[in-house]
Amino acid sequence: MDEIDILRSIALNLSESKSTAALNNYELLCNNIKYVNSLLSLGVEFLKSLQLDLEQALKNNAIVKNESKDNSKPFFYFRNIIPRIISNDISIIEKFILNSLPDERDGITIENVLKIKKTFLDFNNLVTAARQFVDSLVSDAYQLILLEPKEINFHVLSSLSSFNKYVTKSIRQALFNNEIQSALIEFDNLDFNKRVRGQESHITKCEHKTFGQKVDCIFDNLGISGEIDFKEEIKNFFSFSSEFTHIGYVSTFFTSSNTTEVIFGDDIGPYLPSTENFSELKYEILETATKFYSKVYLPSLKIALHKIINDDIYDNYKSQINKTIETITENLNTRNNQYYFFIKKGLINSDEIIDLPCMCGMTNRWEPPHDLSKLFCKSCGSKFNLIEIEGDPEYIITSNGPVKVIGSNVPDFNALPLEKRIELLKTCEQLMKNTINR
Ligand SMILES: [Zn+2]
Repeated sequence: MDEIDILRSIALNLSESKSTAALNNYELLCNNIKYVNSLLSLGVEFLKSLQLDLEQALKNNAIVKNESKDNSKPFFYFRNIIPRIISNDISIIEKFILNSLPDERDGITIENVLKIKKTFLDFNNLVTAARQFVDSLVSDAYQLILLEPKEINFHVLSSLSSFNKYVTKSIRQALFNNEIQSALIEFDNLDFNKRVRGQESHITKCEHKTFGQKVDCIFDNLGISGEIDFKEEIKNFFSFSSEFTHIGYVSTFFTSSNTTEVIFGDDIGPYLPSTENFSELKYEILETATKFYSKVYLPSLKIALHKIINDDIYDNYKSQINKTIETITENLNTRNNQYYFFIKKGLINSDEIIDLPCMCGMTNRWEPPHDLSKLFCKSCGSKFNLIEIEGDPEYIITSNGPVKVIGSNVPDFNALPLEKRIELLKTCEQLMKNTINR
């Protein structure tokens, strides 16, 4: 095998799509759901402590910019409104987390396996909670980025106006003071066009009316409009969830069938195809939502805080938020990766157990007969690709440094004594120089 052979096999493997075998494994799906669900929980715990902090801190004139001290300027009022927006989002995120927990499989037997059957109710609760998550967080990220009085007025007055149409008298009295009542009357007297066009209304404006327009505006402001695939993923999820929210025929047809299901089983116990389908969807939604939270929601919050708070104080908030974004991003990236292992030719299909150590820490024992559909990590869903190397090359140089070729009779590179490692690295350096000078 020469360098072109290796390059060819890498190129081939890289162009292959993700293994559906790995993604369809129920045990693995439950692991990944649990993992991403706790990652999002960690994210919301951070947001809760940030919200409590900001609620107090923003009352303090000493930490805000001059423009936010002047009660004739809009930023003065956003000091109250921002913590309110965040606490609204916390409730929505927590609801979504509760609706996207992994299945509890303890005590499930063939007799009671119907307990984990997924029906219309389960699908609908999950998708509706996710829909509220993405809908509210997009709408709030939009407000946080703009901090525009007419935009927030439109948003709040629209919601109050709908609420007011049906709410009971006692709730109305508890919630609406005279000032808000008269604002509402003024708003209700404007026709829709006037409400949304800022120049014709001195109180409200809504420049980006649809969900899609808001998403575009947010991505532009965050400087991530090049992330076309992710933007589409958010919009596609919104369309998909509309089907469930508005109960079209497809979602009910798909989820409320009464046909008897075959019972599947794995190392943990029995389960049903509907349970697995449901988990697959749950995992996909969780991943999109968590990515959205770290990539879009938290950065939008930074923009808002930067406008209000003094630069030196803001820097501290920025680094706290960045740390959470990094933790979520890095940990999310450990799921469903593709890893490449170099393996000595002749080992596959031999009668030896091949140990494949995954980046997530789990060592997967690939037992003979070496079934290619089992080439994935049971803990994190990453797919393994094997590149066979002829002879006994011991180590191979990759962009991450030298790695041991699986099956070679040498220790792992990192387990070598320091002087051995240095010697090997020097050889690499020499080889590279020779290649460049050639
Ligand atoms: Zn793994």
